[in-house]
Amino acid sequence: MQELTHYINGAHAKGQSSRFADVYNPATGEVQAKLPLANAAEIAQAVDCAAKAQPAWAATNPQRRARVMMAFVGLLNRDMDKLAEALSREHGKTIPDAKGDIQRGLEVAEYCIGAPEMLKGDYTDSAGPGIDMYSMKQPLGVCAGITPFNFPAMIPMWMFAPAIVCGNAFILKPSERDPSVPLMLAELMEEAGLPKGILQVVNGDKEAVDALLEHEVVQSIGFVGSTPIAEYIYGKGCAHGKRVQCFGGAKNHMIIMPDADMDQAADALIGAGYGAAGERCMAISVAVPVGESTADQLIEKLIPRIEKLKVGPYTGGNDVDYGPVITAAAKQNILGLVQSGIDQGADLVVDGRDFNLQGYEDGFFVGPHLFDRVTTDMDIYRKEIFGPVLSCVRAQTYEEAIGMAIDHEYGNGTAIFTRDGDTARDFANRINIGMVGINVPIPVPLAYHTFGGWKKSVFGDLNQHGPDAFKFYTRTKTVTSRWPSGIKEGGEFNFKPME
Ligand code: NAD
Repeated sequence: MQELTHYINGAHAKGQSSRFADVYNPATGEVQAKLPLANAAEIAQAVDCAAKAQPAWAATNPQRRARVMMAFVGLLNRDMDKLAEALSREHGKTIPDAKGDIQRGLEVAEYCIGAPEMLKGDYTDSAGPGIDMYSMKQPLGVCAGITPFNFPAMIPMWMFAPAIVCGNAFILKPSERDPSVPLMLAELMEEAGLPKGILQVVNGDKEAVDALLEHEVVQSIGFVGSTPIAEYIYGKGCAHGKRVQCFGGAKNHMIIMPDADMDQAADALIGAGYGAAGERCMAISVAVPVGESTADQLIEKLIPRIEKLKVGPYTGGNDVDYGPVITAAAKQNILGLVQSGIDQGADLVVDGRDFNLQGYEDGFFVGPHLFDRVTTDMDIYRKEIFGPVLSCVRAQTYEEAIGMAIDHEYGNGTAIFTRDGDTARDFANRINIGMVGINVPIPVPLAYHTFGGWKKSVFGDLNQHGPDAFKFYTRTKTVTSRWPSGIKEGGEFNFKPME
């Protein structure tokens, strides 16, 4: 059995705590590796190395730091196939989807190559008589990030690329479900020229996270994961005086207006609802057709498309649409929620409960499900399912549809499908959700914009990547300077006549 490691001070480090987590191949259900779970002493060791290495890195000029990012992007492209294979083996997503996961992280590293421009300060010449004023953007010191299982390449890169290019050291505590790619990313950053100790990976669970939250040298915590943990980490991190940003769960609604192109809307729902087995924080999990006839047409178009979906392992060829979910527990949770939907009176029009894949009986596969006539009091509507389950909630009017999305506790992403610009514009203006798609089902902003939800999908002020990341990973120092008047021409050797 392979025993994975931490990555501390530029080297793989064996776990010291004697506590391990199982890392599964979700397609077969087999345990493929043991992952050490760090204790507080191992966290302290990583923080110590980071604190020693960081000042020299902060003193390295931004152009040189950006060049490390440039080299890193090249190495990601070189190793794309290897990284994608490792990612799919632990996560279960298809190879094209794994490459998308890496690519969306790579794009943030690419954006970070512009750090010299982003880190330029402000300057006011002659703010007063003989007085100049300037603001510097300085790194925080040692930063840490805690990431979820569903994007094991993208989300770590969203955090460590901007943190590091700003001159910080970064400690990554990745998900214990799929830690291999984060370890490979740390190796690639060093191959790209990053000094030892600037990016370290410490594997672990709550014990490691608490040690990071409590360590007084750690200046900031970035978190992405489920809302209850986001709320816990935000509260505890802030109480320990850290700068904290936490991104939580989601329940993304897609509104389908009667004038929408129904084939386009149905195709969009298939990709956004079932892609990556629904394990995306930007997945659409609620379809809200407006009007009975819209709903009937939509359901009629969805059923054959769902029945055609091919569920299988990442090794199953290019026509596999989605793979297994992450763990047996995740599968049980999804099936439990499906049962609650049936018990609470929703119409299960596509039933994936009996899905079975020959040769992969122990894998964590879940067939696709479609519920119709879901109501807003049901658990399948209120809770994040994080699986291949789409719920259709019928609305009679546009106001009723937008009201549902507005009233839901989560506010990560949403979409509207319509041909009417006025409705789309009204929706974009009034909705209290951070990322909005107009005829685009998964509106994930690109690297140079920022990513973040509203309401219970976020705790903290600034978004991920884009200009916000440079704000989160630096602090501003403003200098006001006045110099006494000096001898501008240097030494004087001749007698001057008396004036
Ligand atoms: P999770 O909350 O279970 O775990 C996330 C991280 O927190 C992991 O590193 C885990 O080790 C750690 N953790 C778990 N329990 C902890 C505890 N009690 N104390 C301290 N740390 C703990 O989330 P997950 O299952 O890995 O990821 C799925 C969730 O992430 C979904 O809710 C999804 O919506 C959300 N997500 C949100 C975004 C976003 O940008 N809003 C992006 C991706 C995923």
